[in-house]
Amino acid sequence: MPEIHPAAATVPARVPALERVALHAPVFVSDLHLSAQRPRSVQRLLALLGALHGQGGELVILGDLFEYWAGDDALAGAEPDDQVGTAVAQALNALVAAGTPVYLMHGNRDVLLGAAFLQASGARLLADPCRAHIDSGAAAGEFLLSHGDAYCTLDLRYQAFRRQARDAAFQAAFLGQPLAQRRALIGQARAQSEAGKQQMDQEIMDVTPEAVGGALRSAGLARLVHGHTHRPAHHRFELDAAPAQRWVLPDWDLDTDPPRGGGLRWSDGSLQEFTL
Ligand code: MN
Repeated sequence: MPEIHPAAATVPARVPALERVALHAPVFVSDLHLSAQRPRSVQRLLALLGALHGQGGELVILGDLFEYWAGDDALAGAEPDDQVGTAVAQALNALVAAGTPVYLMHGNRDVLLGAAFLQASGARLLADPCRAHIDSGAAAGEFLLSHGDAYCTLDLRYQAFRRQARDAAFQAAFLGQPLAQRRALIGQARAQSEAGKQQMDQEIMDVTPEAVGGALRSAGLARLVHGHTHRPAHHRFELDAAPAQRWVLPDWDLDTDPPRGGGLRWSDGSLQEFTL
């Protein structure tokens, strides 16, 4: 049985997360799905981190940075995916050390990113959802940030899984198993999930207007930025007879044809799309 790194005992649900964050010139990305299977995606992230050095902004990762995360002891692992995790943590840490804050939210795939990864990367964990105050430019003000999976409320089976995956007792039991076994269990769950997705109506996997409206209403905000659905867009709609907006981040896959990837950056005082 492989030795368990003490980091494995850290249950992410108990890692303190920021409910609010102050931003000046953020770059938002999500759903990078990094793994050893996608070397070009990894390289493009490292290039993006290099380009952000000294720019005076912030990097905000709204979930699913990794294709999967089996636990922070992967940082001491020898598998190719473990080495991707370590390289990404080191590159994030170099960016943070050079003065660009990095904020990280859990996605559904990397909900087990915990205290040891945050320590290694220098990233600060954001709650889902989190309020962001952007202080510069014409569109300055508050935004709600989320990974977005919580708003896919038509998919009842997924929502049940989501509750379980975020349950502290479930996480502790899972992290108590050897890394190799966790990796195998995740592999099985992903194979089942992919098979299920192909049969499921597309609409079930999108956010619902009710869930988005409910989240904005309870935050008292009119602007939401999220990822997860892989349907990049800028939606304008009415909420309680007032204008509201929702930006959806694109997913990345630089190793497919045609390659895709990008995000949103605060530029000229508003959110602008960029592609990689
Ligand atoms: Mn996701």
